[in-house]
Amino acid sequence: MIALSLAEIAEVVGGQTYDIPDPSVPVTGPVVRDSREVVPGSLFVAFAGERVDGHDFAAAVIEAGAAAVLASRPVGVPAIVVEDVQSALGALARHVVRRLGTTLVALTGSAGKTSTKDLIAQVLRRKAPTVFTPGSLNNEIGLPLTALTATEETRFLVLEMGARGIGHIRYLTGLTPPRIGLVLNVGTAHIGEFGGREQIAQAKGELVEALPEDGTAVLNADDPLVRAMASRTKAKVLLFGESDEADVRAENVRLMDSGQPSFRLHTPSGASDVTMRLYGEHHVSNALAAAAVAHELGMSADEIALALSEAGSLSRWRMEVTERPDGVTVVNDAYNANPESMRAALRALASMGKASQAKGGRTWAVLGKMAELGDEALAEHDAVGRLAVRLNVSKLVAVGGREAAWLQLGAYNEGSWGEESVHVSDAQAAVDLLRSELRQGDVVLVKASRSVGLESVAQALLATG
Ligand code: ATP
Ligand code: MG
Repeated sequence: MIALSLAEIAEVVGGQTYDIPDPSVPVTGPVVRDSREVVPGSLFVAFAGERVDGHDFAAAVIEAGAAAVLASRPVGVPAIVVEDVQSALGALARHVVRRLGTTLVALTGSAGKTSTKDLIAQVLRRKAPTVFTPGSLNNEIGLPLTALTATEETRFLVLEMGARGIGHIRYLTGLTPPRIGLVLNVGTAHIGEFGGREQIAQAKGELVEALPEDGTAVLNADDPLVRAMASRTKAKVLLFGESDEADVRAENVRLMDSGQPSFRLHTPSGASDVTMRLYGEHHVSNALAAAAVAHELGMSADEIALALSEAGSLSRWRMEVTERPDGVTVVNDAYNANPESMRAALRALASMGKASQAKGGRTWAVLGKMAELGDEALAEHDAVGRLAVRLNVSKLVAVGGREAAWLQLGAYNEGSWGEESVHVSDAQAAVDLLRSELRQGDVVLVKASRSVGLESVAQALLATG
């Protein structure tokens, strides 16, 4: 946060000051919505939620040293009162970002936003101080709060933007206008809420429509719906992908025995080899996206390749590989799943387990449903079950209801799998089974859509190692 006086803030957000003895007192930050995060000099933003009303904490946060409360009614302690707290927060973020002159990078997509945001941040911060969205805080509240953590030193601000419907990204870009806008992919996430892929593309493309003429739209050349967004922007277009037409592309993409991808990175300024620490080939696309952004911000192919090779995962439950003391390896990818990342995770599992399988170890795919697939659900689950067989995975544990049955049926039909695949009703049953079966040299992948909550399986396996 940059220091702004209460009077300045009131002016920026169009608010009235109440109970403020000295309006020249500066807010030194941070701006927070959780009363537990208040430190001296904070601005506390009071949201009236369904269960908790932030206004009830006003006295306590002032006691804890907050400079004032941003509120929608007077609260008896120093406050800036506005009609709508959320818009006021947005206006403040926009003001601060503009004043700082920070270069803003925004990204959206159906899958991989957080992974890619973490990669971009790890690459850019080698060049200059970078602030980025923590976790997946990607909505109209998390976004301005993140932007407000920028300081005078901050050169790059990297923001994840989630789209829940038409107009949503347009609103977010209004709060924090990006100079570089990246669209990763258009998948089926939240397809129910949107009504179809074209609608999803329509909503995500609002990001590139918001870019200025001297901005850059970074688009996935391998995804036709994303590529087509080139016609919706005034900004320069930079393409990434494995396609020959991409400006930033990967050649010789391979999955190493460890399950980690390697490739030769080509950018308009040169070429350099990348060997990732992250697991699964879906990260190649994420890495190319990050490389395109970094190239645009002046980094060389060598600098980018080194940073991508050293980048780790900053967010949990995404291909987290842990070896237990007894020699069982657990791969926790339970954060979420879609058909593409299921395939990538299975291939990584197959590579990681190959050497061990030769010595009697086994690979286990503990999988649950992929949500939001609509009419494609049966075929996609069937295909994943079949792929497990083709990749020579040793055992499939399908967890849950009918989608799990489809996974198992796919395996049965592809390889006449009988005992090699098991269908269990829930996570606890999977844990019970695995506890009695796992032995040294086994590699276990755990993955399903967020709603299944399969991380409990990975956690239980690691807790009892
Ligand atoms: P959310 O909408 O929940 O914020 P997100 O778009 O931020 O999700 P990530 O958290 O990076 O996405 O990854 C979620 C899951 O999507 C991961 O567990 C991984 O399996 C998968 N994934 C990551 N990158 C890709 C990609 N490029 N293509 C397809 N799937 C991916
Ligand atoms: Mg996310």
